[in-house]
Amino acid sequence: MTTAVESFDTLRRKLTGALALPGDPLYAELATGFNVAITAKPAAVVEARDAQDVAEAVRFAAATGRAAGVQATGHGLAGTLDEAVLVHTGKLDECVVHPDGWARVGAGVRWQQVVDAAAPYGLAPLCGSAPGVGVVGYTTGGGLGPVARTFGWASDRVRAVEIVTGDGVLRRVTANDEPDLFWGVRGGKGALGIVTALEFDLVPLPSLYAGALYFAGADAAAVLHRWREWSSSLPLAATTSLAFLQLPPMPGVPEPLAGRFTVAVRFAWTESAESGAAVLAPMRAAATPIIDLVQTIPYAAIGMVHADPTEPMPVIEETDLLASFPAEAADALLATAGPDARSPQVMVELRQLGGALAEPGEHESALCHRDAAFSLILIGVPVPPIAEAIVPHAAAVRAALDPWLTGGALPNLSSGTGAERIARSYDPATLARLVEIAGRFDPANVLRVGQVPVRQS
Ligand SMILES: Cc1cc2nc3c(=O)[nH]c(=O)nc-3n(C[C@H](O)[C@H](O)[C@H](O)COP(=O)(O)OP(=O)(O)OC[C@H]3O[C@@H](n4cnc5c(N)ncnc54)[C@H](O)[C@@H]3O)c2cc1C
Repeated sequence: MTTAVESFDTLRRKLTGALALPGDPLYAELATGFNVAITAKPAAVVEARDAQDVAEAVRFAAATGRAAGVQATGHGLAGTLDEAVLVHTGKLDECVVHPDGWARVGAGVRWQQVVDAAAPYGLAPLCGSAPGVGVVGYTTGGGLGPVARTFGWASDRVRAVEIVTGDGVLRRVTANDEPDLFWGVRGGKGALGIVTALEFDLVPLPSLYAGALYFAGADAAAVLHRWREWSSSLPLAATTSLAFLQLPPMPGVPEPLAGRFTVAVRFAWTESAESGAAVLAPMRAAATPIIDLVQTIPYAAIGMVHADPTEPMPVIEETDLLASFPAEAADALLATAGPDARSPQVMVELRQLGGALAEPGEHESALCHRDAAFSLILIGVPVPPIAEAIVPHAAAVRAALDPWLTGGALPNLSSGTGAERIARSYDPATLARLVEIAGRFDPANVLRVGQVPVRQS
């Protein structure tokens, strides 16, 4: 009789990379990601060294009746992946920037590596707020970054994808080759396969006028209402977001922001510093900033705009899209999440959408909700004594904002599993098409764990 260990030995012999089983130190290392609130418990982890390893892992999962899942950095962990074969892409670290404006990266590459490699050519990738996030997980979910209103979604810049589909075949996918996969992988995250490499366009942007204004909690109402009015007339050169912050005193958190309620207004301007300063002036005058970090920065420093955390931490997040954000909505947000609301959330953030984000991409894709006006995300850190309050509080904020919610959510900011949750990321026709394509390329439904549409088996 073949034991599980023996059959894993069969897989191990086919791999260039490592295979880690529960109990191995490498297993604990690979199964843990950025969000330590979720611990993945796969049957085994394949630390892929090349695309062939990914294909072997998927075929092995299919042959043994297991599911296959994927993880790069764990910034978007969705579920515990119980009993699955987890493909860890961290060692797929190819990163080549072509001076004529495009890049090819392996599935384990994080954004900062591409940002740094592109900088000598005055080029920039459309990364997100946190440069430690993985390129592939981010881009396959759309990718909403600090200059997004100028340049649009990262997924619209993709030229080619190399992907192992659920049938265990490695395919190269472009607008002309396997167009259904090309459509679905841009927005569909891991629904149609495990990406091994991505090729995408860069934009010419060596530097920009960007950063954040931080205001005291006492000014939250004035700042939020000013931001709402001011942002409504911003040109495409401006991308902005506003966050209510309650950052703990810890290394990396500036003293004026630590242990108190503050408001951050992020601003990224892709034209001259002079014109950016003029556009930002009304926001700077909304109240007296306690810190003003908006300045000309090299694109390589783009992570300072949001100053997201870089070290692993436990996170509970809830997200929504808003069709509009009138004064009544701002009052509702202040009442439930403002400085006097005793909110347990570390961050309540609104990102203004619109601009280039509302435009269709060059090639149609599975990325939905381009017409939303704002995205909302609430992030709580589940530690005593506030751990239990995070989820009910997020529900109360969502209830207060209900008249303005679209019911949708961006796939990137909405990691999680289950039919209801996934359905929020796509309109019904897109979801049905993703399921249909998945059925063709993954007839055994091997890719059934994580943030993927639920298929009837
Ligand atoms: C601090 C922080 C800041 C963020 N900022 C932004 C932001 O500004 N804009 C934005 O749009 N999103 C943002 N996100 C969300 C982030 O883009 C998603 O969570 C993304 O999925 C993370 O990808 P990852 O590979 O780093 O994480 P992982 O947890 O390793 O992967 C998450 C998911 O991505 C998919 N995926 C990963 N690798 C592959 C692959 N090789 N093939 C197919 N699918 C794959 C899978 O669905 C997987 O479950 C942020 C998240 C965090 C924690």
